Amino acid sequence: MDRPTAVLSVDMEWFTHIPAYRNARGSTTDTDIGRSGVELLLELFGEGDATSTFFVVAEIAEHAPELLTRVVESGHEVGSHTHNHVHLTEVDETERHEELQASRKTLEDATGASVTGFRAPSFDTAHDHFETLDATGYEYDSSVVPCRSIPGWYGGDHTVQRPVPADQAVDGAPSSITELPVAVMPGLRLPLTGTWLRFFGVRYVLWGMRLLSRRGITPILYVHPWELVDLPAVDGVPRRVYWRTGEWMRQAITRILDSRFGFVPMRSLTTAD
Ligand SMILES: [Zn+2]
Repeated sequence: MDRPTAVLSVDMEWFTHIPAYRNARGSTTDTDIGRSGVELLLELFGEGDATSTFFVVAEIAEHAPELLTRVVESGHEVGSHTHNHVHLTEVDETERHEELQASRKTLEDATGASVTGFRAPSFDTAHDHFETLDATGYEYDSSVVPCRSIPGWYGGDHTVQRPVPADQAVDGAPSSITELPVAVMPGLRLPLTGTWLRFFGVRYVLWGMRLLSRRGITPILYVHPWELVDLPAVDGVPRRVYWRTGEWMRQAITRILDSRFGFVPMRSLTTAD
């Protein structure tokens, strides 16, 4: 295949799941903000002949099973993004186990497909993360961001840039789990997507993708469906959350999908495949 490969994964959650909303003073009565973003992503992936992985907050499968059916019927992979978008370090060991196990079962029951991948909300993982994944039947994780330390955010913990058995990412982790770290800009070591796409623009992302690809690394990007929709103003949600959401983001995704990369699901990058 001539085209280099990349992953444009989706963290399928609603605006009301994100910590910036949950910590805000205000609220909204809309319970599924981001739903039309999922529909749009399915359309754009279809037009771009791209296959993706959707890391789904499992409670969405309970409220909108038909949407999840559309994701699977469109040929995309489904992974878990917990049951309720909880931060894994903010709950105890028993609850972490339950979050991972129950979300996987809910998603498998809803789709009829096997769920083998996991991404932690806010890339927040506990000391027993890989052991818990192993014990709850997962095969791969994508919760490592090998970026520099960003105060008040994350980073500084990992250097691994390409898929590896988890024990190469974290000492003592089970090697049965494959870690698929998300892309960071070589040299600069800041994330390539998420908020950083909206801060730094599409050219920054495409440039980083090319640099990684030249090093033989498949760039793993991610997007949230709520970033593609026009968000309601909620008192106390920081401005950075709104920055370039909606139309700007819809065009950005289109441009990334129009690049020379072929977009593949996460699972195709695991050693098992
Ligand atoms: Zn999330």
